[in-house]
Amino acid sequence: MPSYTPMIQQYLKIKARYTDCFLFFRLGDFYEMFFDDATKAAQELEITLTSRDGGGEERIPMCGIPYHASTNYIKTLVERGYKVAICEQVEDPKTAKGVVKRDVVQVITPGTVMEGAMLLENENNYLASVDCIDDHYTLSFIDLSTGELYVLTVDQFDRLKSEIYNRPIKEVVISDRLSTKEQHVLSDELQLTVSHHTLADTIDYASFDALLTNVDHNSLQQAVIRLIHYIRSTQQRSLEHVQPAEIIELSGYLGLDMHSKRNLELTETMMKKGKQGSLLWVLDQTVTAMGGRYLKKWLERPLLDERALNERYNMVEGLLDQFIERDALREDLQSIYDLERLSGRVAFGNVNPRDLQQLKLSLSRIPGLKQTLSTFTSPYLQTIGEDLDTLAELRDLLEQSLADEPPMTLKEGGIIQDGFDPQLDEYRDASRNGKQWINALEQQEREETKIKSLKIGYNRVFGYYIEVTKANLHLLPEGKYERKQTLTNAERYITPELKEKENLILQAEEKSLELELQLFTELREKVKAYIPRLQQLAERVSTLDVLQSFAVVSEQEGYVKPTLTKQETLTITEGRHPVVEKVMTDGMYVPNDITLDGETKMLLITGPNMSGKSTYMRQIALTVIMAQIGCFVPAESATLPVFDQIFTRIGAADDLVSGQSTFMVEMLESKHALDFATNNSLILLDEIGRGTSTYDGMALAQAIIEHVHDHIGAKTLFSTHYHELTSLSESLTQLENVHVSAEEHDGEVIFLHKIKPGPADESYGIHVAKLAGLPGSLINRANVILQLLESNQAEDKGAKIKETAVSFESLEQAVINKKAVSKAHQQTDDQLSFFAETKSVSSNSKTTRLEKKLKQLDLMSMTPIDAMNALFDLKKELQGEE
Ligand code: ADP
Repeated sequence: MPSYTPMIQQYLKIKARYTDCFLFFRLGDFYEMFFDDATKAAQELEITLTSRDGGGEERIPMCGIPYHASTNYIKTLVERGYKVAICEQVEDPKTAKGVVKRDVVQVITPGTVMEGAMLLENENNYLASVDCIDDHYTLSFIDLSTGELYVLTVDQFDRLKSEIYNRPIKEVVISDRLSTKEQHVLSDELQLTVSHHTLADTIDYASFDALLTNVDHNSLQQAVIRLIHYIRSTQQRSLEHVQPAEIIELSGYLGLDMHSKRNLELTETMMKKGKQGSLLWVLDQTVTAMGGRYLKKWLERPLLDERALNERYNMVEGLLDQFIERDALREDLQSIYDLERLSGRVAFGNVNPRDLQQLKLSLSRIPGLKQTLSTFTSPYLQTIGEDLDTLAELRDLLEQSLADEPPMTLKEGGIIQDGFDPQLDEYRDASRNGKQWINALEQQEREETKIKSLKIGYNRVFGYYIEVTKANLHLLPEGKYERKQTLTNAERYITPELKEKENLILQAEEKSLELELQLFTELREKVKAYIPRLQQLAERVSTLDVLQSFAVVSEQEGYVKPTLTKQETLTITEGRHPVVEKVMTDGMYVPNDITLDGETKMLLITGPNMSGKSTYMRQIALTVIMAQIGCFVPAESATLPVFDQIFTRIGAADDLVSGQSTFMVEMLESKHALDFATNNSLILLDEIGRGTSTYDGMALAQAIIEHVHDHIGAKTLFSTHYHELTSLSESLTQLENVHVSAEEHDGEVIFLHKIKPGPADESYGIHVAKLAGLPGSLINRANVILQLLESNQAEDKGAKIKETAVSFESLEQAVINKKAVSKAHQQTDDQLSFFAETKSVSSNSKTTRLEKKLKQLDLMSMTPIDAMNALFDLKKELQGEE
């Protein structure tokens, strides 16, 4: 190190404290990066990598970005999960002796960004802390832009994962008590920026008291303290807007594990990871950014409290009934800006005059909003209206102090209104008078000299000057003015009088700018005192916005108010899938009913692929979730119990990130449901077992059904293409078969998407393959094989399934048995193979002759009609034999 130049030594010293960040090192008008930071940043930001001599043996890699254009570069890095430490010159270079002092003034990380451009309007941005104490995991998270702070505890890492996954958490601060494996899950599987933070012994615990008023448990307090301490040590900014931590009692909300949130596409789709096509996309008719974030939060945490839910239904109903008033309400809400984030910026000290203008405008809409709410007949809406705080004093203060159209920045003045501060008015008068005087002077000089084009101008270097074009110089009496500057076409002059006025004007302007800045800072401090009230107002406005959104959607899409019941019965008549029906522009969605009660808790759904099994299952889950966030539901009528948790295993989403096979994911998700579900839960299992071989899969499917039936008693929908499983209804009293019907017309299959009682009796796999456009000859061949297999199946059918006694213990064994998993990799999902195995076909003596005939058929040279005829003959022969 000694051979490096002093500046590079300074860089290395600072960098040693910020090893996990890109260090943006301020050099003049640039932020420079050196060494590895430079190489990596050049790649990430696509900027030129250069090098410089730093005193060492080799040149140092270097790259830089202009200081004034840094926001976008920082944004790119932070969005990719990196942290950026901003290192500024902290003394005036002119007076510095030796190398200018520099220090890190801010560390920008994915969880701590505050700048508007780096935040999504409709989404919270959380920074979390995670710890593990006495076998319990604690999670605390904060949105620095809004000041919300939460804390919760869970007893298993899996649950912790779900809690993190279900929220827009971007970064997590962890303690060393987390195992390396757990740390990897957070960084690799959940793709979070992970920071380590140890609490120093010298920490001043009393300084956290205000945030811990609602939290009495030590481990929860520790989680909050770690989080806040991390922020305090990386962000040198005020945290006055942070609200006391709120404990989230998970038992008070509908449990949705991460698989379910993903599978049910509540806030984003699985394929494209976008909002479009998700439940949020259908429900979001909010008109404020706060409302948008609130709706997401409601979706993250559906309620269990029947009373609170009924209150929400009643308000939605009230809004639905009075559409003219609702429109007025929407209009009121539309002009309310993001009060939460404005409050955050006020506390952080980066609020600008335009922000306060937005606050002023928002507050000016509150009386109108109250008035609109009073026009509703619903007592709930009236009460919300009465409870709205108009913050009249704050509004008055802003109206009196803030100019009508203040600028974004603090540099140019024009922030404070005339008449607010006498001293400021005086300065402004001086400056205005001076300018008037100059205008008058221009007029007077023109008349005196008879030079019409004479003008008085201003620039930063020479100040005010009198300009005369060269063509008119002859009209100017010798020595009238003092020459200051010669241009190609004109001469510029000054007079002592002009300079005197200029002095007055500039002094007044400078003083007025200074004073404006001071007044603005005072104003900001005054606004700070209102932050808690502003946050409360924001919450009420957000609630209203979400409820009106529900009302608008319910009206547009024809949703009904659900009835919550304490009984075990779930009845949905003419239910629909909110997203699928919205995407289907032809209005052809086929509604379906469902009834589950104490006697029938499980439905085994059979039917061909593409018939609508998983859509049906999802629609039930989405209906339950919609009901438990307080929204109306897509059905003719719905009576629902309040579910405590929803578990799903739907679709074949390979977990590529964690490198697990489809089958392993399937088993893990099922295990999750089996571990945690209660008899008040809803379980959806779609095609369990298809990730492995037929018998394996069928055995596991049966064992799972039996386990849920005998030991859990949760309401369960289980779809399968293993027709053999339908005979389970004989032994499992609470299980019923239903199927999705399809019809065949002229060899084509038509899906009716209608759920009917009883098991499905045919497999339409080949028809689906045909619809998918597989070659005709291949389809013919498959039809021939199918006929053959079916003729043997009749005997075997049912027998196998009854023989297959698989205990739950052996299922668990299978989950952990690596052999089973690797076998799953080797074997493909062959839908047809379960009808019979080839061996059993050839061992059947009755069919030997037919088999021979079949073998002799040269399918490749036959036309489809020949094949049909041959098949017809074979079938006839077979029936004759039987
Ligand atoms: P399965 O799970 O039986 O393979 P899906 O539930 O995936 O079938 O449904 C396949 C397609 O059928 C869906 O993408 C949707 O377009 C359509 N579909 C499903 N249910 C309905 C319905 N009730 N009404 C209209 N179309 C439906």
